[in-house]
Amino acid sequence: MRRVERREAAPEDLEEKGAEELEQAIQHFENDPPNPDSFAFKRYKLKSVKDALERIFHAKCAYCETFYASSQPLDVEHFRPKGAVAGENGHRGYWWLAADWDNLLPSCIDCNRKRNQITPKGETSQVRLLDDTAGYSAAVTVGSGKKDSFPIAPTGTRARSRADLLAVEKPLLLNPCEDDPEQHLTYFFNREHPVSFVLAKKLAGDPDYSGEDGLSLKGATSVHIYGLNRLRLVQARTRLLRRLEFMADLAIDLKKLAETLKQNADPEIVRAGQQVDAFGNRTLAELALMCAEDQPYSAMAQAWMREFQTRLQTP
Ligand SMILES: [Zn+2]
Repeated sequence: MRRVERREAAPEDLEEKGAEELEQAIQHFENDPPNPDSFAFKRYKLKSVKDALERIFHAKCAYCETFYASSQPLDVEHFRPKGAVAGENGHRGYWWLAADWDNLLPSCIDCNRKRNQITPKGETSQVRLLDDTAGYSAAVTVGSGKKDSFPIAPTGTRARSRADLLAVEKPLLLNPCEDDPEQHLTYFFNREHPVSFVLAKKLAGDPDYSGEDGLSLKGATSVHIYGLNRLRLVQARTRLLRRLEFMADLAIDLKKLAETLKQNADPEIVRAGQQVDAFGNRTLAELALMCAEDQPYSAMAQAWMREFQTRLQTP
């Protein structure tokens, strides 16, 4: 997951039709007595909303950065669930935010819908995962998918009506438009056995989001609920990781060869060395492109790039 700037205002028809729908929802939920039936929200699914989310998120899932456009329809997901809140009996959901632009995110089916996912063993115990890097070959089936989940920090206060402040809720789920996921998530790289797990980052001292083990509670909860270590996702990130490693090795070899050739007394060989150097630079430029915001799993690629640059500077 990477930080995304919501750089477009709400689509005009969402503003207009969403306001009408909200009026109807107010009648439904705030009547005395309130209507016990569910309310069929539909404005959040307007084509203009899907198109705008696709542009802003480059057709990637807001949570896992998978390109959804080629394989599945877009789920417009409510960050604060519109119809119910898991584990909160009697909460009718954040229905007043059903057509609120800031509450809408694009999501792949796996991150959004509750389903069982094969997950490499160790996902729920980060310490064990770090100690036992071979253990990832074993797998367990874990339920994940956001659906109606919206856990908040023990220090937060749950909003239950339109009048309640959202600012005091302190959600335990990362929102890529409101949080900087980099502060809460880190990637585990093992160069000998490249495999890409995402883990909660150390966040010692934060009164709201730091767990007993000093790791980000927000990061850990997000990994678990969005299922960011489900097997197919780990495999997809690992394929990218292996490509990054391969291209990095290639670039380093090309640069070394170029240096040797450029020392030669023969000007022809020096020119060949300069060409090889240019190939090395092109490979490095391609690596940088793989970290761009419109690329899949770019947060992982960025984290890898930082590690690679440190590696280059370490003799
Ligand atoms: Zn996803």
